[in-house]
Amino acid sequence: MTKSLSGLMAGATSTTWHNWARTASATPHRSESPRDLPELQAVVREGADQHLRVRAVGAGHSFTPAAVTDGIHLHLDHLSGIEGVSRLPDGSAHVTVAAGTRLHQLNALLSAEGLAMRNLGDIDRQSVAGAISTGTHGTGARLGGISTQVVGVRLVTATGDVVEASADENPELFELGRLGLGTVGVLAAVTLHVVPAYRLEAREEPMRLLDVLDGLDDLADGNDHFEFYWFPFTDRALTKRNNRVADDVVEPLSAARAWVDDELLSNRLFSGVNRLASAVPRITPALNNLSARGLSARRYTAPSHEVFISPRRVVFREMEYAVPREHLRGVLEEIDGWLRSTSEPVPFPLEIRFAAADDLWLSTAHGRETAYVAVHQYARMPHGRYFDAVEKIFAQVDGRPHWGKMHRLGAERFAELYPRFADAQRTRAAADPTGVFANPYTDHVFGSRHTAG
Ligand SMILES: Cc1cc2nc3c(=O)[nH]c(=O)nc-3n(C[C@H](O)[C@H](O)[C@H](O)COP(=O)(O)OP(=O)(O)OC[C@H]3O[C@@H](n4cnc5c(N)ncnc54)[C@H](O)[C@@H]3O)c2cc1C
Repeated sequence: MTKSLSGLMAGATSTTWHNWARTASATPHRSESPRDLPELQAVVREGADQHLRVRAVGAGHSFTPAAVTDGIHLHLDHLSGIEGVSRLPDGSAHVTVAAGTRLHQLNALLSAEGLAMRNLGDIDRQSVAGAISTGTHGTGARLGGISTQVVGVRLVTATGDVVEASADENPELFELGRLGLGTVGVLAAVTLHVVPAYRLEAREEPMRLLDVLDGLDDLADGNDHFEFYWFPFTDRALTKRNNRVADDVVEPLSAARAWVDDELLSNRLFSGVNRLASAVPRITPALNNLSARGLSARRYTAPSHEVFISPRRVVFREMEYAVPREHLRGVLEEIDGWLRSTSEPVPFPLEIRFAAADDLWLSTAHGRETAYVAVHQYARMPHGRYFDAVEKIFAQVDGRPHWGKMHRLGAERFAELYPRFADAQRTRAAADPTGVFANPYTDHVFGSRHTAG
């Protein structure tokens, strides 16, 4: 029987797998769900012996074919949970977590330990391994993405051996282990630096886009986590400021208001708006104006992970680029100009986030203060013209694409965009000389293993 396996249903045998956005699918030779580390090692060894490619998949939430294989598809859902907690004098901790753990599971487990992730993205469906392998990030001008919170990894290498890597031990493998699309090995465990659990005050407020851009530095630097959504064809943005508050500041959102905002307006009504736009594309600007006018302010406090995470039920396609923060305004003006001149129907808002510069070899924020510009299109509407046009705009400011989202760049361009790219190519070639962990996507992105470095 041919069975379709979504990225969320690991463990079953399958012939066809597809990702969340249905932009990638795979018909692997077989799927495996190892129950423990020795089983994982055995599968990798078997794959290498039989000349089958081996590719791990997390929750299938990448928009690219990064997790696709025609060989052995590895689902690590049995490798889940916290393995050890090592408390540090300042109250923070190093927590070793099995690589298949989903972020929502991790958040609950950390919370039970009085701990939390320093920063998170918008959703919590991803696996820890998948999230770090593509450089998943949230927002915060003083903070980095999830990979910057990784202090150690345990990898099963192309020979089936287990290798521990950190800044002090196998540092080059560590670089690609904490952000490298699974090209140097299968992650079995990840050690994260986490912080004492904290509450956030969420303040959401509609603003004029021009006012946001005029006050950008104050907004980005003056809040722990600042981001905004901008509806194309409008001058309105929904701003979100999340800041730490004391544990005793408890001002929750009522369950009814949370449902209306997060479920009814953000998902059910938004789904209807998108369906309408796909049926009658020319009314998209009017729909966006209505959506933008419907934005309302709210303020509440909650444990950090509850504030960061929102349910996303309307399926979309996404491209996201990291641009030098100083170019954000120009980039948005150009996108606005293109949209207005073409009237391309785009009912989805753009999402703008921020990150501090870091030094991870393949981090999209490597060496520069970064603004992330994410463009989305409803899955039932064409995205090609829109994404092509904005990709050209991003290219003018040396934008770097999110490793898990749609883009058209290859190794040659990455070599110009990342100062340590040759080191990454060399490390990949040394760790996996025969391409056990390769697929067409990683070959395109990293280039040939034989000419690397
Ligand atoms: C609705 C939605 C919201 C999103 N929100 C955000 C956001 O807020 N911020 C952001 O930055 N991104 C976001 N993303 C992108 C998402 O975080 C990344 O694409 C992430 O990689 C998905 O994790 P996953 O577990 O689904 O990994 P997959 O997509 O399954 O895999 C990603 C990569 O990791 C590799 N991999 C998986 N497991 C292992 C392993 N054990 N060892 C080695 N390699 C492995 C795969 O081979 C693949 O190359 C979002 C995506 C969606 C669909």
